[in-house]
Formats: sequence, C-alpha cells, structure tokens
Amino acid sequence: SSGSPRPVERLSPADLFIAVKTTRRYHRQRLALLLDTWISRNTPQTYVFTDGEDMELRKKMGAHLINTNCSAAHNRQALSCKMALEYDTFIHTGRKWFCHVDDDNYLNVGSLLKLLSQYSHTQDVYIGRPSLERPIETTERLGTAEVRQVRFWFATGGAGFCLSRGLALKMKPWASDGTFMATAEHIRLPDDCTVGYIVEALLGVSLIRSALFHSHLENLGLVSDMHSQVTLSYGTVENSRNTVNVKGPFSVNEDPTRFMSVHCLLYPDTPWCPGPWPL
Ligand code: UDP
Ligand code: MN
Repeated sequence: SSGSPRPVERLSPADLFIAVKTTRRYHRQRLALLLDTWISRNTPQTYVFTDGEDMELRKKMGAHLINTNCSAAHNRQALSCKMALEYDTFIHTGRKWFCHVDDDNYLNVGSLLKLLSQYSHTQDVYIGRPSLERPIETTERLGTAEVRQVRFWFATGGAGFCLSRGLALKMKPWASDGTFMATAEHIRLPDDCTVGYIVEALLGVSLIRSALFHSHLENLGLVSDMHSQVTLSYGTVENSRNTVNVKGPFSVNEDPTRFMSVHCLLYPDTPWCPGPWPL
C-alpha cells in the first residue's frame, strides 16, 4: 500500500476526549477488560459514562468515572441522556476531538491518532462506520399536523465514531445542555442516529465513512491487520461467537473476546502478556 496521506495536524493523545458508554451491571462483565487492556494505556483521555455508583471503579478512575444519573434502562431516553452528557463534558474540556465507544469496543488509540491527524479539528469532521446500506429515513414533527420526511446517514455507536471540535460547536443548538434529548425525541430515534440527524440533516455535513471502525453487526472474523484497525468489538449471542480471528497468546477459553490477545499483539511489553523468551 502507499501508506497514509500526509498528516495535516500533529495530534497527541491529550487532544482526544474518549467517552466510553457503560451501565452498572457491565462494570465487571465488560468494563474491567477494557481497563486492563486499551484504557490502561490511555487513562488521561478516557472518561467512562455510567448510571450507577461503584466504589471500586471510583477508586481506580476518580473523576474520569462520570455517574450520569441517567436511568439504567436500555431505552431511547436513557441512552440519549448519556450521549448528551458525553457531549456536554467534551465541550467543557476544550479537547480537539470527541470520540465515542461502547463498552464492548477495543480502541487502538495509535491508529485513531493517525486517522484523525489527516483532518483539522477546526473543520467539520464526523467519521465512523454507517450501520446501514442506505440512509435512514424518518419523519420530523414540524408543527402539530405538519411532518417532513428526512433521510440521513449516521455512524453506528457500536463501532465508535468521532467528531471534530469545530463541528461539535456547531451542534450546540441541538445538542448542548439538555437539547440533545429533545432532539432525539423529535425524531424518535436512538442516540447515534440523533448525532447523524444533527450533523447531516440539520448542519448539512456528510459522514466520512471509515472501514477501520468495527461493530459486532459485521462478521468480525473477516477483519485482518489488527495494527491498523481503529475499533474492534465482539458478539456475545449464545452459540454464535463473533470475534476477530487472532492467534494466541491466549486461548479462546482464556480470552473469549480476543481483546487480551489483540492487546498483547499491539503492546507486547505489557506485564501480563507472555513474552516470547521466558527466562
Ligand atoms: N447500555 C447502556 N444501558 C443499558 C444497556 C446497555 O448504557 O441499559 C450500553 C452498553 O453498556 C453498551 C451500549 O449501551 O455500551 C450497547 O449495548 P449492547 O452492546 O448491550 O447492545 P447492542 O450493541 O446490541 O446495541
Ligand atoms: Mn454491543
């Protein structure tokens, strides 16, 4: 390959704001694995958004654990309540890039920095993987009787996505200080769709598609070159494992999500990764 285009902006990890969405019952089941793997290398820029207090996690993460007080239900209101707080927190930090991931995503921050450095954070950038083959269609409520058909693309939250600060600031009228939840209600769609609606339908900015973001909606067994991917995920549907295919050092039994093996591939100097030359 010809390699990546020349960077337009020098980026460092401190320029990123990474929001991880989770829920109380997944702190041990999902989040612990992320803390042991990619988050351990990226604690200063990673913020976990959850819905219930956890003393153990609080001790580890301090102010980087954000208890949203959003409902722990898996409904539209609860999820858009979390996204709204991710957005507001990002705006207050002054960082250059907002990136969202779910608690079943592995994030390769090195690849992410390489990707984002091809753009300027002052431009309008919305980048991720569309979850559908075609734009989503819905109706907007305009007045009491008036409705309008809208079509737009959105990046699936389960694969992670990023927004430049320049674009995030333009989203303020529909996203900041409680307006995000009202916007989500207006189109009656989930949080990730609402982001796409604000960016594409209201601001006229197009989603940049990247094949480097991955959710468990795709066949993860087909993903190769772990070093260049930005996000990975895993499927937990019983009897049909959907994970990336990566050889050792851990067996599928020891490491069912494959995230530990991926982490050792990317960072072989990690203390718990078995070295190739045992003394
Ligand atoms: N989630 C949440 N509240 C819930 C259930 C899930 O915030 O009540 C979060 C979960 O932690 C994850 C995301 O929503 O970050 C997506 O959840 P999941 O992977 O279970 O569902 P799917 O990927 O199938 O949408
Ligand atoms: Mn998921």
